[in-house]
Amino acid sequence: MVAKECLFCKIVTGDIPADVVYSDDDVLAFRDINPRAPIHVLVIPKEHLDSLASVADEHRDLMGHIMLVAREIAKDEGLGPSGYRTVINVGVDGGQTVQHLHLHLLGGRALRWPPG
Ligand code: 5GP
Ligand code: ZN
Repeated sequence: MVAKECLFCKIVTGDIPADVVYSDDDVLAFRDINPRAPIHVLVIPKEHLDSLASVADEHRDLMGHIMLVAREIAKDEGLGPSGYRTVINVGVDGGQTVQHLHLHLLGGRALRWPPG
């Protein structure tokens, strides 16, 4: 199911272009339009889910799949040896600005901890 006014659903349907690095039946990954690191990829479910807070037991396999896709992309992007970070922002305090669940994959430079 896609949500009509959702930016990332429009990327899933191809109505908004994106630099796609991975796609399968359930998951899409594309480069962030405003990268915060040399490699910054967003991994999303094709099904519209507002956020991690909306995820239910039925999405257990999907969430595991998203994590493994992120790991494979990291490997393909050459981030294996140097390491990388995966982040899911949730809600206002988490800094979530797009209300379609997405996992950030960031790498290619040393990342500070904790984030601001
Ligand atoms: P959030 O702040 O919700 O965790 O992350 C949303 C991310 O989506 C941000 O890093 C932002 O740069 C990215 N973004 C917003 N609009 C677009 C877009 O139209 N295309 C792409 N590729 N990324 C976008
Ligand atoms: Zn959506």
